[in-house]
Amino acid sequence: CGIIGYVGDNPAIFVLLQGLERLEYRGYDSAGVALIEDEKLFVEKKVGKIRELVRSLWGKPLKGTVGIGHTRWATHGEPCEINAHPHTDMKGQFAVVHNGIIENYLELKQELTKQGVEFRSQTDTEVIAHLIALNYKGDLLEAVLSVLPKLKGAYAFVVLSSLEPYRIVGVRHGNPLVVGLGDGENFIASDIPALLPFTKKVIPLSDGEVADLRKDSVDIYDFEGNRVVKEVIEVPWDI
Ligand code: GLU
Repeated sequence: CGIIGYVGDNPAIFVLLQGLERLEYRGYDSAGVALIEDEKLFVEKKVGKIRELVRSLWGKPLKGTVGIGHTRWATHGEPCEINAHPHTDMKGQFAVVHNGIIENYLELKQELTKQGVEFRSQTDTEVIAHLIALNYKGDLLEAVLSVLPKLKGAYAFVVLSSLEPYRIVGVRHGNPLVVGLGDGENFIASDIPALLPFTKKVIPLSDGEVADLRKDSVDIYDFEGNRVVKEVIEVPWDI
């Protein structure tokens, strides 16, 4: 239901938790985060309120400066820890948070199962993580672009990989996603209020756009991988 992502030089966890709290009004049944810690994926998710997640993170010295977070409103699979986002591939190298519905997930799940993929959750989302992992040839953006034609439905998702621990990629196709521009850091979220504690410079993505975020750059593409030039909007309201 809500997405937040951060790439920069500061510990991502503070941005993620603050962003998630600002997304609470959208409603949710569980919440989770994924960070890159020492080049490995760290994932924590909990059923219930953000404070349950905060409690389970307590005392963990998370210093990762790249991360994604999610509040889930279950559509496929009951609300439980396994079905909460982020979802990962089998090797634990890719993590995905997703809003919306992948309508053809059963078909994709069957195909992937034939290829030896073992599914852990009942969600429609998990197929995205496995598809990206299987189509990864050294470039996260290219892997994401290569799986988009397979996905049917309305969705927004954001992915990161421990194989490229300086980058997050977000896709908008029917569900909202907004990029936030910082100084040596960049953000992505489902809505502007989640970004306002950090920046007022935003780029709302249009349907059919993909954002490639690094700490010093944001590049936007269409689903064919062509560069799209976007206007930066200065949000006029106060927090
Ligand atoms: N369809 C996904 C799920 O049930 C995402 C739901 C959401 O937008 O939070 O896990």
